[in-house]
Amino acid sequence: MPAQVQGRSNAEDIVRSFEQSKMVNCKHYPMVFIPGISSIRGEPQSQEENDKTYEESQKQRALERKLRKEKLDLSIMQAQGAPEDAIKAQRKKVRAASADIDEFCDATGRARRRSREYTPVNPSFPDPESMPGSPADVKKQMQQHYDRQATPLQEMTPAEEFRKLQESAEPKAPAPAQAAPEPAAPTAPPAPATRPTATFTPAKTIEEAEEYARKTFVDIYQFAATGISYKGISVDIANEINQTVGDFYQTYNVKKFSGIVAPTANSREGKMIKNAVAAYSPIRNSFYINRSSLKDEKTARKHFEEEAKVIQEYFAAPGKYTRISREVKTILENSRESGRATVPTTVKEALWHELGHSLEKYLKEVPNYEKIKDGYTTYAKKISGYATAEFSEYIAESFAAWNRGETVVDPELIEGFKALQRK
Ligand SMILES: [Zn+2]
Repeated sequence: MPAQVQGRSNAEDIVRSFEQSKMVNCKHYPMVFIPGISSIRGEPQSQEENDKTYEESQKQRALERKLRKEKLDLSIMQAQGAPEDAIKAQRKKVRAASADIDEFCDATGRARRRSREYTPVNPSFPDPESMPGSPADVKKQMQQHYDRQATPLQEMTPAEEFRKLQESAEPKAPAPAQAAPEPAAPTAPPAPATRPTATFTPAKTIEEAEEYARKTFVDIYQFAATGISYKGISVDIANEINQTVGDFYQTYNVKKFSGIVAPTANSREGKMIKNAVAAYSPIRNSFYINRSSLKDEKTARKHFEEEAKVIQEYFAAPGKYTRISREVKTILENSRESGRATVPTTVKEALWHELGHSLEKYLKEVPNYEKIKDGYTTYAKKISGYATAEFSEYIAESFAAWNRGETVVDPELIEGFKALQRK
């Protein structure tokens, strides 16, 4: 989602933030840029270069595995209360493994990928104290636990992940004995896009809300998990997030998210989402919430009102906006047919947009994916200006529109979304 308003609204700022959001929007978040892959887009590589890149990437992955292992050993030793000098020696190994990666990256010009070096720190990690067996047994068990929880995901392509997910989908409960089928209604109501949780009880504190997210739809063992942090946003907003994401998770056959965080404005992540209300990182499988625009209900409402207003101002006097790029101008011009630049008008709807991004990788596996792609040129303009920016925004915007109960969404895409719902 592009554009945020801080304090007094400034039309130029909002329009410009569309421009910036082309760099940092929901999906094209700099953290997910993969060196090699993003540059392939620009200029094609030769086969030889391609092979070299692959070989280097494998070397780097091996060095990262080594570093993660040393870090894990260190945390096990600390948990076991190993002697100070042994811990010191292990710290040295961690630093050496880290230095090896630096050296390799310097030599090859590759970017260091800190997220791949991450070892999850998890409160529910088995407590070594309570584990039976010798220290060596404990270590083995913890290693197995870590391997099971953290390692497999990162090597998987989205397609592999999806297949694994399908295999591990909970076995279906036997269908209850059915009474006579209900007579079909004359006009069938549209199937719900997400199923509301009947049991959602709003949290009273931020800590309570964080705990709910951890229990319900977040798995912090995932690779490069961000974990949960609702610090900086109101309990109302945290509840809105929990209810919306919880409903989504209950409805769609997706794996849990690795986290939801509201970074401070000055942090690296905060700067990256400066011009977005929220963002989704496909690699981390987690969401970022902009504290300034989604701090509380009132601020959020103001944000969406301003955003809608500025588009109307643009429509009234497009000539006034002289400093915008052709790309952004195209998005704004493409907003005329739908009458809006973006679909979301509330926090919930902005979350739907981001949740739509999270479905994209699964959509690639649905039988009618080719038809879904074909629909882009016809349907994007009907959805919103931003939906025409690129295919992933089209998916996200369409998902938000469908959840609003709108009928402008491509039926093929709806069929795709439905194919991903839990049966
Ligand atoms: Zn987006």
